[in-house]
Amino acid sequence: MAKITIDNQDYEVKDNLTIFEACRQAGIILPALMYDDRLEPVASCELSVVEVEGEKELVNACTQIVSDGMRIQTQTERVKEARKKVLSSLLSAHPLDCEHCSTTTQCKLQIYCQEYEVTQPTETAKCKEYPLDERNPFYIINPNKCIACNLCVRVCNELQGVGALEMSEEGHVQRIITVECESCGNCIDICPVRAIIPRRFEEEYAQELAEQDKVQEVKEPRAVKTTCSYCGVGCQLELIVEQEKVVDVKPVKVPPNNGLLCVKGKFGHKYINHSSRLTTPLIKKDGKLVEATWEEAYELISKKFKEIKNKYGSAVFAGLSSAKITNEENFLFQKLVRTVFGTNNIDHCARL
Ligand code: SF4
Ligand code: SF4
Ligand code: SF4
Repeated sequence: MAKITIDNQDYEVKDNLTIFEACRQAGIILPALMYDDRLEPVASCELSVVEVEGEKELVNACTQIVSDGMRIQTQTERVKEARKKVLSSLLSAHPLDCEHCSTTTQCKLQIYCQEYEVTQPTETAKCKEYPLDERNPFYIINPNKCIACNLCVRVCNELQGVGALEMSEEGHVQRIITVECESCGNCIDICPVRAIIPRRFEEEYAQELAEQDKVQEVKEPRAVKTTCSYCGVGCQLELIVEQEKVVDVKPVKVPPNNGLLCVKGKFGHKYINHSSRLTTPLIKKDGKLVEATWEEAYELISKKFKEIKNKYGSAVFAGLSSAKITNEENFLFQKLVRTVFGTNNIDHCARL
């Protein structure tokens, strides 16, 4: 363990932590645009610099390991000035169109620029106009917004194991045409400036919101944590809900997926809002299916099953379950079939 001070407060932390991690444990989140705790840290953005007593130069918190007795300052004027310079320099290669940018609330560069009151680039914007890469059916790459943090390239290479992205000679991200992208969308979720965006942001999303604006007050999006229902891995994700519609899915950094998804979990959510999806139980009355409450439906199901069980016994039942429900729901289902119906005739669609 190492005894350190951060902003004049004493802490005892594991001695293999970086300053960045030690600060985070202390509840101090340092700014960073090129850091992700799933990847080996590199100090390339230099936003997370801090002052360390006895060190002449500012220290990169992402890569520097703490040592016993270290005294760290995270908010001095010198530190703030250094961070401002980094942000101004990044703005030089980024379009200054925040007011019109559809990804505005999710861009860390904009958030930090506001926090550090940086409005002007170091040099006059030297951005060229690169064409959008719209080849993928699920996402669009906008090289003009890319700040060359390399995170998407690394997530694709090191975590997804695909290697479909690289940095171009001009210093922005590009697709490698010889490598097939899996459309997992993990590059989207790691990009700090939303230079890679789901297609719906540009198309349906804007259209839907414009239509909804006309008829009702716009509510803030909310995130609903849930489990992916596509396979037994059970990835943890957040459904982003706007105007009672699921508009996006974001991975959660917990086991088993630790912030990653596959194409199904990331993009396969349109069925949730589909107009022909059943949202209430239907009971056949006089030859026609009519909407019913869950209470009515359950009462009917249990009445019919009891009648069948009493007349023919348990062996006539079989329960066929689904990979589209969670492991816990599958467990409950087999328990229902075994203990209530009284049969071991239970199987799952993965083996049918
Ligand atoms: S969608 Fe997945 S596979 Fe495709 S470039 Fe992004 S991270 Fe790589
Ligand atoms: S596209 Fe985004 S994540 Fe990829 S290098 Fe550019 S800024 Fe970084
Ligand atoms: S995101 Fe993909 S791997 Fe994860 S649970 Fe869903 S379908 Fe399975």
